[in-house]
Amino acid sequence: MLNRVLIALILSFVHGADRDKSMVQRSQITFVGTKFNIVQNGDTPNRYIWLHGDEQTARMALEHHVALFGGIAFFVQSETREIPFESTMIDPNRVFSRKGAYHALRKFKPGWQPGTLKRALDLIDRERSAFLDILIPSKNGVLISVHNNFRGYNVYREKDKSQRISIKSDQNPRDFIICTNNDDFENLSLGPYNVVLQNILPEKDDGSLSWEAIRRNVRYLNIETRLGYLTQQKKMLSFVESTLN
Ligand SMILES: [Zn+2]
Repeated sequence: MLNRVLIALILSFVHGADRDKSMVQRSQITFVGTKFNIVQNGDTPNRYIWLHGDEQTARMALEHHVALFGGIAFFVQSETREIPFESTMIDPNRVFSRKGAYHALRKFKPGWQPGTLKRALDLIDRERSAFLDILIPSKNGVLISVHNNFRGYNVYREKDKSQRISIKSDQNPRDFIICTNNDDFENLSLGPYNVVLQNILPEKDDGSLSWEAIRRNVRYLNIETRLGYLTQQKKMLSFVESTLN
């Protein structure tokens, strides 16, 4: 008994000395066959997600951001963009609709045995629903995803899908913010960064998280920067945080 009290005292002393870290809770969820680490720091309503394992700058920026500003962040446990699923590879940002998942599953494996594709899609449907139940923020929160580009992708490629654009002449076109809420666009476009508004569902739903956010009427933001530009991505994240809250 005395031993237990002593151990409890020692533990509370250790936690007391390390108060900030003890507020961080870690857990895991499996989604489309891959583990995601969930880091919760405090109880702010914002949610964050890092989906592409090869975009390491975005992971580092997000780890830094959540440690500093709080929120719940999801980190894919993969070092590659595509993750293994059933007997193929799949882009985790193409499974947020059944139609998107259908095309993603057939991308590297066009031929499926009768019935197996439907079973895989049914499984993804169930897992998506459980995953989104904890990923989607409450009404006063925003959902922020972080991405990096390294193949020439830039804000001009998003022009046709966007309803409003604000491109700054002194910003690199490969660093930009996509948002899905008109008021957020108004506020963000006053700042120094490239911003586009995408608040209408496209005809061709590719299964990316942004379209699911629009369907659910969630304020979603994608913070896209060049791979390797960690300081820039950290700055864009804190700019979004301070502008929208
Ligand atoms: Zn990405």
